[in-house]
Amino acid sequence: MTSIQHNLQQVRQRISAAAQRCGRDPEEITLLAVSKTKPASDVEEAVAAGQLAFGENYVQEGVEKIQTLAAYPTLAWHFIGPLQSNKSRLVAENFAWCHTIDRLRIARRLNDQRPECLAPLNVLIQVNISDENSKSGIMLEALPELAQAVAALPRLRLRGLMAIPAPESDYQRQLAVCQQMAAAFHALKAYYPDVDTLSLGMSDDLEAAIAAGSTLVRIGTAIFGARDYAQHSQQ
Ligand SMILES: *Cc1c(COP(=O)(O)O)cnc(C)c1O
Repeated sequence: MTSIQHNLQQVRQRISAAAQRCGRDPEEITLLAVSKTKPASDVEEAVAAGQLAFGENYVQEGVEKIQTLAAYPTLAWHFIGPLQSNKSRLVAENFAWCHTIDRLRIARRLNDQRPECLAPLNVLIQVNISDENSKSGIMLEALPELAQAVAALPRLRLRGLMAIPAPESDYQRQLAVCQQMAAAFHALKAYYPDVDTLSLGMSDDLEAAIAAGSTLVRIGTAIFGARDYAQHSQQ
């Protein structure tokens, strides 16, 4: 077994243990393997261990991997990075999901650019729940209005919410922030029947996210190891 396959097993065990501790079915929680900066060969190792959902942050890098791995049609590719308008077409044409909708303008572009031959693009609205230093995500107050506008776009399917909480090592404080997101998610779900996804939890806070009700955790380092940004040209 390779180390990626070993790491995947361990992460799956952490997810199962966290779910069982709060009486949830581990099957309710999707593991998104975040492969940013890692080569397509690492993704293939994860695929060999049964992993199907992958997250990418950089448009160009993600599209190259999707094309390299086109022989695996069952893979689901999620775009999880900040999205600039001039890159939206590549996301609309190549990805199944986009987690980082934070303005109507970008949602409209993705809607207009989503090819007819593909199913509607699954989208999540990114909420800035606790990170004063981050410019990504909308404030919770702005959510109802943006959700209503996004849900009306026919080539997008509003599936839920995503957040990247500010780094925090204390479990109780992680949990409190995750619970705020879960409350917003349940409120949204009551209005929009397609809403079923709360993208919350990374390598360091997946237990708190699952206890609060996350349905999708985004895990990079704990599966693929530390990232070497020096080797990687970001766009
Ligand atoms: C990089 C990244 C992750 C994975 O983070 P790890 O700490 O490596 O698990 C998850 N979500 C987003 C949005 C990311 O950019």
